[in-house]
Amino acid sequence: MIDYHVHTRLCNHAHGTMEQYIGCAIDKGLSEICFLDHLTLNKQGRDLAMDPVAVPLYIYAARRLAEKYKNRIEVKVGMEVDYTPAHAEEASAILDRFSLDVIGGSVHFVDDENIVSSKNRNSTSSPNAGFYDHYLELLGKLLDYSGFDVICHLDVIKKFGNHPPARFFDKMDEILTRIKYHDLVVEINTSGLSHPAGAVYPAPEILRRCFEKKIPVTFGSDAHRPEQVGRAFQQATAILRNAGYRNLTGFNRRNRYEIPI
Ligand SMILES: [Zn+2]
Ligand SMILES: [Zn+2]
Repeated sequence: MIDYHVHTRLCNHAHGTMEQYIGCAIDKGLSEICFLDHLTLNKQGRDLAMDPVAVPLYIYAARRLAEKYKNRIEVKVGMEVDYTPAHAEEASAILDRFSLDVIGGSVHFVDDENIVSSKNRNSTSSPNAGFYDHYLELLGKLLDYSGFDVICHLDVIKKFGNHPPARFFDKMDEILTRIKYHDLVVEINTSGLSHPAGAVYPAPEILRRCFEKKIPVTFGSDAHRPEQVGRAFQQATAILRNAGYRNLTGFNRRNRYEIPI
């Protein structure tokens, strides 16, 4: 098994060193671990992400550890880019300077609110329909930005246990068609099992539609603590197999390959 979405303390809101995450991944028998720390450039999120000046150090540290542990596990390095249209060019300018294994795209901010923070006002009250529409609009813009390999936690908008309206799923179908058109990979992210949502991102019915559209998938725990590496991967594997999948996608300097599950 692989885990292509783990954070480290470099992003200011996760715990543990890179080496501790690698140690946990080896203990769980994973064949690969990929750091996917945050690159967030909008002002509301900057404190929750790595300082852009630290990116070279982060990549260098990951490559050193990849060499150190090469006989026990493959260590990869990528970034989870917090997509906001106003900062897309600035993100490209940073990312273009480095050779990463994978670049993930995420929507964390809708209407200037951090939708993954328990402090956002939609975490305690039912969001209005416009909130879901705005999320989908941002996802649509993210797909037109050509810099990503993976779309992270596709329906994270349900994080606090709210249920998106039926038309959210219809519109999501259009999003999936565009994901296929742009030849992107969708992540199954098990962090949702520990959130009020109590379910993986995206929901199993969305994963089934992904399979029908022949969209490749990868796996990520979104670990913010070393012990969360590989979280619920057996459950995720069962969900993926039920959806029809027999392979995950791995990345090497942004080239893809298949890994049987
Ligand atoms: Zn995220
Ligand atoms: Zn993450």
